[in-house]
Amino acid sequence: MRRYLVAGNWKMNTTRATGEELAGALAANASAEEAGVEVLVCPPFPYVSAISEKVSGSAVQVGAQDVYFEAGGAFTGEVSVDMLKDVGCQYVLIGHSERRHVMGECDETINKKVKAAIAGGLKVVLCVGELLSEREASQTEAVLDRQMEGGLADISESDANHLVIAYEPVWAIGTGVVATTEQAESAHDHLRKWVAKHYTAAFADQIRILYGGSVKADNAEALLGQPNVDGALVGGASLKADAFIPIIDAAR
Ligand code: PGA
Repeated sequence: MRRYLVAGNWKMNTTRATGEELAGALAANASAEEAGVEVLVCPPFPYVSAISEKVSGSAVQVGAQDVYFEAGGAFTGEVSVDMLKDVGCQYVLIGHSERRHVMGECDETINKKVKAAIAGGLKVVLCVGELLSEREASQTEAVLDRQMEGGLADISESDANHLVIAYEPVWAIGTGVVATTEQAESAHDHLRKWVAKHYTAAFADQIRILYGGSVKADNAEALLGQPNVDGALVGGASLKADAFIPIIDAAR
């Protein structure tokens, strides 16, 4: 039985005050006994520390939106795994579509980040997903395979135990155009089969695959009801407690 994970990716949004208010509302809502769902928030770097303090003692966990693979030194502007752990992160998002397509991150860099994060003791949400042009050219599965192969190169099954996959079709992110339940289920099923082929069937059965891209309260239940959808990675609708809590509720 896979436990749902509902994650909020705040991207470059919130102020310290609005972030704290949001985190406080989530912490008050997510009582620890509601063990059926794992709840995660990923604030911007400068607020991670404050948000960690705000949710401490609650069932809400904190993640970062990115990390650098080197342990320290002359890497201006970057943040290490140890720094993230030091300020209360349990998770980190790696390979988000905006990192890939706005910042130009490639699978090789993503792979280095996944390795460093897992080696350092963070859980990783590896994001994959195709562009609209790739879907229209029937390249979705080939793109997912390439991103999985590249992102998970030389990662053993015991390391992959610290991994969650997020399927986020790029055309659905921030557009209001959500994947249909059939499109999501088909991609998730493909990803789980990829894991079975490259690791083991038993592990493929355990790994969680989240859907991301225009998840809202009114589509969450149908998406989370798909057999291979184990949670949601939510952008826009994670920025207001009254939009995010119903998505958590849909996973209960
Ligand atoms: P969205 O973003 O929910 O605003 O589409 C999802 C994401 O980028 O993780």
